[in-house]
Amino acid sequence: MVVGAVEAGWLRVLEGEELAYLGTEPAREGRAEPFPDDLDPRVASALIARGISALWRHQAEAWEALRGGVNVIVTTGTASGKSLAFNLPVLDLLARDPKSRALYLYPTKALAQDQARALGAFGLKGVKPAIYDGDTVAERRWQIRKWANVILTNPDMLHVGILPRHDRWGDLLANLRYVVVDEAHVYRGVFGSHVANVLRRLRRLARAYGSEPQFVLTSATVANPARLAEALLGAPAVVIEDDAAPKAERTVALWNPQLLDPELGLRASALGDAARLLGSLTSQGLRTICFAKSRKAVELIHRFTVDRVESDVARRLAPYRAGYTAAQRREIEGRLMAGDLLGVTATDALELGIDIGELDCAISVGFPGTVSSLRQQWGRAGRRGSGLAVLVASEDALDQFFMRDPEALLGRTVEAAILDGTNPRVLDGHVLSAAFEGPICPADAETLGPEALERAAVLPELKHTEPGWVWAGTDYPAARVLLRSADRESFTVVEAATGSVLGLVERSRAFSTIHEGAVYLHLGEQHLVRSLDLEALIAVVSAASVDWYTQAKKETETAIVEPLRVERRLGLDLAFGRVSVTEHVVAYQRKSISGGDTLETVPLDLPPTSFETEAVWFSPGADLLHGLEEMPKLLSSLHAAEHSLIALLPLWAMCDRWDIGGLSTNVHFQTGLPTIFVYDGHPGGVGITERGFESFEGWVGDTTRMLRGCPCAAGCPSCVQSPKCGNLNEFLDKAGALTLLGRFCQPRKWMQPLTARVSSSEIAIETARHPGEQP
Ligand SMILES: [Zn+2]
Ligand SMILES: [Zn+2]
Repeated sequence: MVVGAVEAGWLRVLEGEELAYLGTEPAREGRAEPFPDDLDPRVASALIARGISALWRHQAEAWEALRGGVNVIVTTGTASGKSLAFNLPVLDLLARDPKSRALYLYPTKALAQDQARALGAFGLKGVKPAIYDGDTVAERRWQIRKWANVILTNPDMLHVGILPRHDRWGDLLANLRYVVVDEAHVYRGVFGSHVANVLRRLRRLARAYGSEPQFVLTSATVANPARLAEALLGAPAVVIEDDAAPKAERTVALWNPQLLDPELGLRASALGDAARLLGSLTSQGLRTICFAKSRKAVELIHRFTVDRVESDVARRLAPYRAGYTAAQRREIEGRLMAGDLLGVTATDALELGIDIGELDCAISVGFPGTVSSLRQQWGRAGRRGSGLAVLVASEDALDQFFMRDPEALLGRTVEAAILDGTNPRVLDGHVLSAAFEGPICPADAETLGPEALERAAVLPELKHTEPGWVWAGTDYPAARVLLRSADRESFTVVEAATGSVLGLVERSRAFSTIHEGAVYLHLGEQHLVRSLDLEALIAVVSAASVDWYTQAKKETETAIVEPLRVERRLGLDLAFGRVSVTEHVVAYQRKSISGGDTLETVPLDLPPTSFETEAVWFSPGADLLHGLEEMPKLLSSLHAAEHSLIALLPLWAMCDRWDIGGLSTNVHFQTGLPTIFVYDGHPGGVGITERGFESFEGWVGDTTRMLRGCPCAAGCPSCVQSPKCGNLNEFLDKAGALTLLGRFCQPRKWMQPLTARVSSSEIAIETARHPGEQP
């Protein structure tokens, strides 16, 4: 059997002590249904011409639900035909009534282009898709408004180009029947909180023009699809999650590079191991894609692999990156699909829905941050035949946690996607924009939300008139609101050579990420910051290729503004609320990418910055701190506990550890006690730490297990050290942190006579969990 030979091939590769887990996920039969009776025959013929003769059950379910007039969110797996779930009703509608309109929202231009091509490929008369984004030339714009009946755009364009100019879009708004929000899980955190408001503004305007569109969302698997949809739309949606598409058998391997120095927790390079796997697999003729987090890593893996394999295989390997033009991307995708290319190394740019056909193997180098991203990457393997999916662990705490406890990764309900459209930092700009678009009256609470009405009444640039709150300013308020930032003041990152804008960095994090001399990553590409203009809010960067990264040293202070929730949890008074964070970046270090050694420390002269955000905090009492009271043991234990908590929070809230900050102090000026704060790194906060508050028991339990399982002696990058520590990882006591967090989980047992003989390694830790939070 061919399949058997292929499997035997990869099993030969997956040997050695590095193999932390090897298992199979079984194949699944598809559940198909005939086309619905009420499907327009022209659409049915178009599907048959494309080789589609039936629907998967979940596609049929979406059809039925949409027929019933509700909103829908589809969260079935990668390659399960989610696009057809929304294309089908749209095509059917337009075949019957070409005057109707549909709006498709994509987080990136590339995805919109792919979908426009897919729609065009049905070749249905009357279906006229067009992309309307920042690249659309002016003379095409009015034509598109006139003739297109499927507008494909992005939330940024909808926010700044379509809604404020709604008089030009009357035809779209009045006839709008479907709004498709594809890849909805991308809309989380700050971006999601903004998009939630943009969608509310869209609903309000559509209503003003007499339409009540239905929304179809698709998302990667998330823990809370109904909540995600409701948070984004401000209206409920039916969840369709029972995946009926067939699935090939998949072999899953977790690969942990060799532990070179157990004392220091030092491991062999993940990039080197990935190259070894990629080289062996492609040399056997297996088509393999290898995902890495940065362009630099992609380059290195590609180079290492080419060095290992025979020249005929080396010629069939290629790197792939976000910076390529559409034509370059398509060429690589085509060669990969045709089997001309055997191995591709890519940054996560490839992760989002782009079609590269069926591959044999997918290797993820380093946990990509969320289980749902990992599943998307793995979904590339074995789409038709059996496939191999591998995670090569980095030294990061989460990666190592998974290597020791594969079930925590493979058996886990995915993370919850979190956003908070009512964050005033985010909301206010949209209230102003909405007022610009039309007077805000009490009835708008239904679409914009009651919070928007409350804010309208206090925002000084709005004036109360007979029809409602109207815009009394002189400029264009939507232009002030950047959807990918919670800070109204953001630094623009400009490339010196071309003058093009690479991105925006919130003021609150600018000094630690784009100070002069910093290495700034844009779509995985390295850039060196040449200058930072504090007046003009501009950072000038140039492309670079260096073997080091930078880490800022900063001093942080946190002041409690207002506790919002306080509960007795795990023997502590656990608080969630608003805090003010002041950060002062005083220096940065250059560190080598391969070994992490410090190459140089450079002082910086930057002013402190402050922002208000959300946090969880707690002050362990004397009982919990027994034996840890002495300085610097006390501070080092708290600091190490804070770092490890931050490292594990992304397991519970769908975020990156870079989204979270922390502070630990032996005596806080307000609590008067030793205190640990974990705060949301975005001004205003988007709900990440509230999720931590709600899942505290599971969160602490995971963190304790992680600390307990790390084989290092006194702390390493895989447990208590943090790549973003403002103190450059000084004062960290792993044993102290473990003692402390271990006592949270078992406060009763150890308290009395036990104390004398408690050493951190002896404490038996049981994971405390809330029922229902994790299977
Ligand atoms: Zn360690
Ligand atoms: Zn730190």
